[in-house]
Amino acid sequence: MIIILKNNAAREKVDALAAKLRGEGFTLHYSEGKHTTIIGLIGDTYKLDPEDIAAYDIVEGVRKVSEPYKKANRKFHPEDTRVTVGKATFGEGFFQVIAGPCSVESEEQIVEVAEAVKKSGATLLRGGAFKPRTSPYSFQGLEGEGLRLLLAAKRQTGLPIVTEIMDLSTLGMFDDVDVIQVGARNMQNFSLLKELGKTGKPILLKRGMSSTIEEWLMSAEYIMSGGNERVILCERGIRTFETAVRNTLDIVAVPVLKRLSHLPVIIDPSHATGQPWLVEPISKAAVAIGADGLIIEVHNNPEKALCDGAQSLTPAEFDGIMGKIRHYAAFEGREFGIASGASIGAAL
Ligand code: PEP
Ligand code: MN
Repeated sequence: MIIILKNNAAREKVDALAAKLRGEGFTLHYSEGKHTTIIGLIGDTYKLDPEDIAAYDIVEGVRKVSEPYKKANRKFHPEDTRVTVGKATFGEGFFQVIAGPCSVESEEQIVEVAEAVKKSGATLLRGGAFKPRTSPYSFQGLEGEGLRLLLAAKRQTGLPIVTEIMDLSTLGMFDDVDVIQVGARNMQNFSLLKELGKTGKPILLKRGMSSTIEEWLMSAEYIMSGGNERVILCERGIRTFETAVRNTLDIVAVPVLKRLSHLPVIIDPSHATGQPWLVEPISKAAVAIGADGLIIEVHNNPEKALCDGAQSLTPAEFDGIMGKIRHYAAFEGREFGIASGASIGAAL
Protein backbone atom coordinates (compact mmCIF):
# COMPACT_ATOMS: atom_id res chain seq x y z
CA MET A 1 0.00 0.00 0.00
CA ILE A 2 1.17 3.53 -0.65
CA ILE A 3 0.05 6.69 1.11
CA ILE A 4 0.32 9.87 -0.94
CA LEU A 5 0.74 12.88 1.31
CA LYS A 6 -0.65 16.32 0.67
CA ASN A 7 1.94 18.89 -0.40
CA ASN A 8 1.66 20.98 2.73
CA ALA A 9 1.45 18.07 5.19
CA ALA A 10 2.75 19.20 8.60
CA ARG A 11 5.87 17.35 9.72
CA GLU A 12 4.50 16.47 13.21
CA LYS A 13 1.36 14.97 11.73
CA VAL A 14 3.37 12.89 9.25
CA ASP A 15 5.62 11.70 12.07
CA ALA A 16 2.60 10.77 14.18
CA LEU A 17 1.07 8.74 11.35
CA ALA A 18 4.42 7.08 10.67
CA ALA A 19 4.83 6.16 14.36
CA LYS A 20 1.34 4.64 14.46
CA LEU A 21 2.04 2.53 11.36
CA ARG A 22 5.42 1.39 12.65
CA GLY A 23 3.72 0.47 15.91
CA GLU A 24 1.40 -1.79 13.92
CA GLY A 25 4.43 -3.62 12.55
CA PHE A 26 4.83 -2.04 9.12
CA THR A 27 8.14 -1.12 7.51
CA LEU A 28 7.98 2.33 5.95
CA HIS A 29 9.65 3.49 2.76
CA TYR A 30 9.71 7.22 2.01
CA SER A 31 9.95 8.72 -1.42
CA GLU A 32 10.21 12.49 -1.48
CA GLY A 33 9.74 13.62 -5.05
CA LYS A 34 9.63 17.08 -6.58
CA HIS A 35 5.87 17.21 -6.35
CA THR A 36 4.70 14.53 -3.93
CA THR A 37 5.84 12.60 -0.92
CA ILE A 38 4.87 8.96 -0.76
CA ILE A 39 5.03 6.58 2.17
CA GLY A 40 5.23 2.97 1.03
CA LEU A 41 4.06 0.35 3.51
CA ILE A 42 5.62 -3.09 3.62
CA GLY A 43 3.86 -5.73 5.69
CA ASP A 44 0.44 -7.35 5.96
CA THR A 45 -1.56 -4.40 4.68
CA TYR A 46 -4.71 -6.51 4.26
CA LYS A 47 -5.30 -5.70 7.95
CA LEU A 48 -5.51 -1.99 7.13
CA ASP A 49 -8.62 -0.28 5.90
CA PRO A 50 -7.51 2.28 3.25
CA GLU A 51 -10.40 4.51 4.26
CA ASP A 52 -9.06 4.81 7.82
CA ILE A 53 -5.77 6.13 6.43
CA ALA A 54 -7.47 8.35 3.83
CA ALA A 55 -9.35 10.02 6.69
CA TYR A 56 -6.15 11.71 7.94
CA ASP A 57 -6.15 15.33 6.79
CA ILE A 58 -2.50 15.11 5.63
CA VAL A 59 -3.33 12.25 3.24
CA GLU A 60 -4.08 12.95 -0.40
CA GLY A 61 -4.79 9.36 -1.35
CA VAL A 62 -4.16 5.68 -0.62
CA ARG A 63 -3.48 2.95 -3.17
CA LYS A 64 -3.05 -0.77 -2.82
CA VAL A 65 0.13 -2.17 -4.40
CA SER A 66 -0.69 -5.63 -5.62
CA GLU A 67 2.75 -6.47 -7.04
CA PRO A 68 4.96 -8.49 -4.68
CA TYR A 69 7.93 -6.14 -5.22
CA LYS A 70 7.61 -2.97 -3.23
CA LYS A 71 10.86 -1.00 -2.97
CA ALA A 72 11.60 -1.76 -6.63
CA ASN A 73 8.07 -0.70 -7.61
CA ARG A 74 7.49 2.59 -9.39
CA LYS A 75 4.37 3.10 -7.28
CA PHE A 76 6.63 3.33 -4.23
CA HIS A 77 9.03 5.68 -5.99
CA PRO A 78 7.45 7.47 -8.97
CA GLU A 79 10.62 9.27 -10.06
CA ASP A 80 13.47 7.48 -11.83
CA THR A 81 16.27 6.39 -9.55
CA ARG A 82 19.74 7.48 -10.52
CA VAL A 83 22.64 5.28 -9.46
CA THR A 84 25.92 7.13 -9.42
CA VAL A 85 29.29 5.38 -9.71
CA GLY A 86 32.15 7.85 -9.39
CA LYS A 87 31.25 10.52 -11.94
CA ALA A 88 29.00 8.27 -14.01
CA THR A 89 25.25 8.39 -13.50
CA PHE A 90 22.93 5.56 -14.51
CA GLY A 91 19.36 6.70 -14.87
CA GLU A 92 17.17 9.40 -16.28
CA GLY A 93 18.89 11.70 -18.75
CA PHE A 94 22.17 9.78 -18.97
CA PHE A 95 23.58 6.97 -21.09
CA GLN A 96 26.63 5.03 -19.87
CA VAL A 97 28.70 2.40 -21.61
CA ILE A 98 30.56 -0.22 -19.60
CA ALA A 99 33.19 -2.07 -21.64
CA GLY A 100 36.02 -4.54 -21.26
CA PRO A 101 36.91 -8.17 -21.72
CA CYS A 102 34.81 -11.10 -20.59
CA SER A 103 37.61 -12.10 -18.25
CA VAL A 104 40.79 -10.54 -16.94
CA GLU A 105 43.75 -12.46 -18.36
CA SER A 106 46.88 -10.40 -17.67
CA GLU A 107 47.89 -6.91 -16.58
CA GLU A 108 48.92 -6.01 -20.11
CA GLN A 109 45.56 -7.17 -21.50
CA ILE A 110 43.31 -5.41 -18.99
CA VAL A 111 45.27 -2.15 -18.98
CA GLU A 112 45.44 -2.04 -22.79
CA VAL A 113 41.71 -2.66 -23.14
CA ALA A 114 40.89 -0.19 -20.33
CA GLU A 115 42.89 2.58 -21.97
CA ALA A 116 41.31 1.91 -25.36
CA VAL A 117 37.69 1.81 -24.16
CA LYS A 118 38.20 4.91 -22.06
CA LYS A 119 39.46 6.78 -25.11
CA SER A 120 36.31 5.73 -26.97
CA GLY A 121 34.05 7.09 -24.22
CA ALA A 122 33.32 4.12 -21.95
CA THR A 123 32.87 5.28 -18.37
CA LEU A 124 33.33 1.96 -16.53
CA LEU A 125 35.59 -1.03 -17.08
CA ARG A 126 34.23 -4.58 -16.97
CA GLY A 127 36.26 -7.74 -16.53
CA GLY A 128 35.53 -11.07 -14.89
CA ALA A 129 37.86 -12.42 -12.20
CA PHE A 130 35.51 -15.21 -11.09
CA LYS A 131 33.95 -16.79 -14.17
CA PRO A 132 30.79 -18.92 -14.15
CA ARG A 133 31.70 -21.39 -16.92
CA THR A 134 29.45 -24.15 -18.18
CA SER A 135 32.40 -26.55 -18.16
CA PRO A 136 34.64 -27.10 -15.14
CA TYR A 137 37.50 -27.67 -17.62
CA SER A 138 37.20 -24.16 -19.09
CA PHE A 139 39.23 -21.19 -17.81
CA GLN A 140 37.69 -20.25 -14.44
CA GLY A 141 39.18 -16.76 -14.11
CA LEU A 142 42.22 -15.42 -12.28
CA GLU A 143 40.13 -14.92 -9.11
CA GLY A 144 41.96 -12.77 -6.50
CA GLU A 145 44.78 -12.01 -8.93
CA GLY A 146 42.16 -10.90 -11.48
CA LEU A 147 40.71 -8.44 -8.96
CA ARG A 148 44.20 -7.11 -8.28
CA LEU A 149 44.79 -6.56 -12.00
CA LEU A 150 41.43 -4.81 -12.40
CA LEU A 151 42.41 -2.45 -9.60
CA ALA A 152 45.72 -1.78 -11.36
CA ALA A 153 43.77 -0.87 -14.52
CA LYS A 154 41.50 1.37 -12.44
CA ARG A 155 44.53 3.15 -10.96
CA GLN A 156 46.00 3.74 -14.40
CA THR A 157 42.86 4.92 -16.15
CA GLY A 158 40.56 6.21 -13.43
CA LEU A 159 37.75 3.99 -14.73
CA PRO A 160 35.57 2.46 -11.99
CA ILE A 161 35.38 -1.33 -12.25
CA VAL A 162 32.50 -3.77 -12.63
CA THR A 163 33.12 -7.43 -11.84
CA GLU A 164 31.10 -10.50 -11.01
CA ILE A 165 30.74 -12.16 -7.63
CA MET A 166 29.93 -15.86 -7.74
CA ASP A 167 30.08 -16.84 -4.12
CA LEU A 168 29.31 -15.18 -0.82
CA SER A 169 32.58 -16.41 0.67
CA THR A 170 34.53 -14.00 -1.57
CA LEU A 171 32.55 -10.84 -0.66
CA GLY A 172 35.41 -9.55 1.52
CA MET A 173 37.60 -9.40 -1.61
CA PHE A 174 35.24 -6.89 -3.28
CA ASP A 175 35.87 -3.91 -0.97
CA ASP A 176 37.54 -1.83 -3.69
CA VAL A 177 35.25 -2.95 -6.50
CA ASP A 178 32.94 -0.14 -7.63
CA VAL A 179 30.02 -2.18 -9.01
CA ILE A 180 29.39 -5.80 -8.06
CA GLN A 181 27.84 -7.83 -10.87
CA VAL A 182 25.42 -10.65 -10.13
CA GLY A 183 25.43 -12.89 -13.17
CA ALA A 184 22.49 -14.56 -14.86
CA ARG A 185 23.26 -17.87 -13.14
CA ASN A 186 23.12 -16.28 -9.70
CA MET A 187 20.09 -14.05 -10.11
CA GLN A 188 18.14 -16.20 -7.67
CA ASN A 189 20.97 -16.93 -5.25
CA PHE A 190 18.94 -15.43 -2.45
CA SER A 191 21.53 -15.73 0.30
CA LEU A 192 24.00 -13.84 -1.93
CA LEU A 193 21.41 -11.17 -2.74
CA LYS A 194 20.60 -10.70 0.95
CA GLU A 195 24.26 -10.09 1.80
CA LEU A 196 24.66 -7.68 -1.12
CA GLY A 197 21.70 -5.82 0.34
CA LYS A 198 23.82 -5.08 3.40
CA THR A 199 26.61 -3.49 1.34
CA GLY A 200 26.45 0.09 0.11
CA LYS A 201 27.75 -0.92 -3.32
CA PRO A 202 25.95 -0.51 -6.62
CA ILE A 203 24.82 -3.93 -7.85
CA LEU A 204 24.52 -4.81 -11.54
CA LEU A 205 21.79 -7.44 -11.48
CA LYS A 206 21.67 -9.49 -14.66
CA ARG A 207 18.50 -11.26 -15.67
CA GLY A 208 18.42 -15.01 -15.14
CA MET A 209 18.21 -16.76 -18.49
CA SER A 210 14.82 -18.29 -17.70
CA SER A 211 13.49 -15.65 -15.35
CA THR A 212 10.36 -13.61 -15.73
CA ILE A 213 10.45 -9.86 -15.27
CA GLU A 214 8.59 -10.28 -11.99
CA GLU A 215 11.12 -12.82 -10.68
CA TRP A 216 13.90 -10.45 -11.70
CA LEU A 217 12.31 -7.54 -9.85
CA MET A 218 11.86 -9.80 -6.82
CA SER A 219 15.62 -10.42 -6.90
CA ALA A 220 16.16 -6.65 -6.94
CA GLU A 221 13.75 -6.50 -4.00
CA TYR A 222 15.95 -8.95 -2.05
CA ILE A 223 18.87 -6.52 -2.39
CA MET A 224 16.78 -3.43 -1.71
CA SER A 225 14.95 -4.89 1.28
CA GLY A 226 18.35 -5.21 2.98
CA GLY A 227 18.81 -1.45 2.64
CA ASN A 228 20.82 -1.23 -0.59
CA GLU A 229 18.75 0.58 -3.19
CA ARG A 230 21.61 1.05 -5.67
CA VAL A 231 20.51 -1.60 -8.15
CA ILE A 232 21.03 -1.46 -11.93
CA LEU A 233 19.15 -4.07 -13.96
CA CYS A 234 20.78 -5.67 -17.00
CA GLU A 235 18.86 -7.46 -19.76
CA ARG A 236 21.25 -10.01 -21.29
CA GLY A 237 18.94 -12.21 -23.30
CA ILE A 238 16.78 -15.13 -22.27
CA ARG A 239 16.56 -18.71 -23.38
CA THR A 240 13.91 -19.51 -25.97
CA PHE A 241 13.40 -22.06 -28.79
CA GLU A 242 15.45 -19.79 -31.10
CA THR A 243 18.97 -21.00 -31.85
CA ALA A 244 20.16 -18.54 -34.52
CA VAL A 245 21.89 -16.44 -31.87
CA ARG A 246 23.23 -17.24 -28.39
CA ASN A 247 20.19 -15.93 -26.48
CA THR A 248 17.00 -14.04 -27.33
CA LEU A 249 17.23 -10.38 -26.39
CA ASP A 250 13.99 -9.42 -24.70
CA ILE A 251 14.19 -5.77 -25.63
CA VAL A 252 10.61 -5.12 -24.63
CA ALA A 253 11.77 -5.75 -21.07
CA VAL A 254 13.24 -2.23 -21.08
CA PRO A 255 10.01 -0.22 -21.44
CA VAL A 256 8.15 -2.79 -19.35
CA LEU A 257 10.66 -2.40 -16.52
CA LYS A 258 10.57 1.38 -16.88
CA ARG A 259 6.82 1.24 -16.31
CA LEU A 260 6.94 -1.20 -13.41
CA SER A 261 10.07 0.04 -11.69
CA HIS A 262 12.15 3.18 -11.13
CA LEU A 263 15.51 1.39 -11.37
CA PRO A 264 18.01 2.02 -14.19
CA VAL A 265 18.13 -0.63 -16.92
CA ILE A 266 21.01 -1.44 -19.25
CA ILE A 267 21.44 -3.94 -22.10
CA ASP A 268 24.22 -6.46 -22.70
CA PRO A 269 24.28 -6.99 -26.49
CA SER A 270 27.35 -9.26 -26.29
CA HIS A 271 25.80 -12.05 -24.21
CA ALA A 272 22.35 -11.47 -25.68
CA THR A 273 23.53 -12.43 -29.15
CA GLY A 274 27.01 -13.93 -28.99
CA GLN A 275 27.74 -12.09 -32.26
CA PRO A 276 29.95 -9.02 -32.57
CA TRP A 277 28.13 -7.80 -35.70
CA LEU A 278 24.89 -7.54 -33.73
CA VAL A 279 26.35 -5.22 -31.09
CA GLU A 280 25.91 -2.09 -33.21
CA PRO A 281 22.23 -2.47 -34.18
CA ILE A 282 21.29 -3.53 -30.66
CA SER A 283 23.22 -0.66 -29.12
CA LYS A 284 21.32 1.79 -31.30
CA ALA A 285 18.05 0.11 -30.36
CA ALA A 286 19.02 0.31 -26.68
CA VAL A 287 19.26 4.10 -26.86
CA ALA A 288 16.02 4.40 -28.82
CA ILE A 289 14.01 2.17 -26.48
CA GLY A 290 15.06 4.09 -23.39
CA ALA A 291 17.77 1.92 -21.84
CA ASP A 292 20.19 3.72 -19.52
CA GLY A 293 23.31 2.16 -20.93
CA LEU A 294 25.15 -0.84 -22.31
CA ILE A 295 27.73 -3.38 -21.19
CA ILE A 296 29.86 -4.55 -24.10
CA GLU A 297 32.66 -7.13 -24.32
CA VAL A 298 35.87 -5.77 -25.88
CA HIS A 299 39.15 -7.69 -26.18
CA ASN A 300 42.50 -6.56 -27.59
CA ASN A 301 42.91 -9.94 -29.29
CA PRO A 302 39.50 -11.67 -29.51
CA GLU A 303 40.92 -14.72 -31.33
CA LYS A 304 43.12 -15.52 -28.35
CA ALA A 305 40.59 -14.64 -25.62
CA LEU A 306 40.23 -17.23 -22.85
CA CYS A 307 36.48 -16.61 -22.64
CA ASP A 308 33.83 -15.29 -25.04
CA GLY A 309 36.32 -14.18 -27.72
CA ALA A 310 33.83 -14.96 -30.49
CA GLN A 311 31.43 -12.29 -29.27
CA SER A 312 34.03 -9.68 -28.34
CA LEU A 313 34.71 -6.53 -30.31
CA THR A 314 38.19 -5.26 -31.05
CA PRO A 315 38.94 -1.82 -29.61
CA ALA A 316 38.72 -0.36 -33.15
CA GLU A 317 35.28 -1.90 -33.75
CA PHE A 318 34.15 -0.65 -30.35
CA ASP A 319 35.37 2.84 -31.17
CA GLY A 320 33.37 2.89 -34.41
CA ILE A 321 30.17 1.88 -32.60
CA MET A 322 30.70 4.42 -29.82
CA GLY A 323 30.90 7.22 -32.38
CA LYS A 324 27.47 6.23 -33.67
CA ILE A 325 25.70 5.70 -30.36
CA ARG A 326 27.01 9.02 -29.12
CA HIS A 327 24.96 10.64 -31.91
CA TYR A 328 21.91 8.54 -31.13
CA ALA A 329 22.13 9.52 -27.48
CA ALA A 330 22.41 13.21 -28.39
CA PHE A 331 19.39 12.89 -30.66
CA GLU A 332 17.43 11.43 -27.73
CA GLY A 333 18.58 14.31 -25.52
CA ARG A 334 20.67 12.08 -23.29
CA GLU A 335 23.96 12.98 -21.69
CA PHE A 336 26.46 10.44 -23.07
CA GLY A 337 28.93 9.35 -20.40
CA ILE A 338 29.83 11.70 -17.61
CA ALA A 339 28.28 15.15 -17.43
CA SER A 340 29.78 17.56 -19.94
CA GLY A 341 32.72 19.47 -18.64
CA ALA A 342 33.70 16.79 -16.13
CA SER A 343 36.55 14.38 -16.74
CA ILE A 344 37.16 10.91 -15.36
CA GLY A 345 40.78 11.87 -14.75
CA ALA A 346 43.95 10.18 -15.86
CA ALA A 347 44.37 8.37 -12.59
CA LEU A 348 42.67 8.11 -9.23
C1 PEP B 1 29.53 -12.00 -18.14
O1 PEP B 1 29.13 -10.84 -18.02
O2 PEP B 1 30.68 -12.29 -18.53
C2 PEP B 1 28.58 -13.11 -17.88
C3 PEP B 1 28.99 -14.31 -17.51
O3 PEP B 1 27.31 -12.74 -18.09
P1 PEP B 1 25.91 -13.53 -17.84
O4 PEP B 1 25.82 -13.74 -16.37
O5 PEP B 1 24.89 -12.55 -18.37
O6 PEP B 1 25.98 -14.80 -18.63
MN1 MN C 1 31.30 -13.15 -21.15
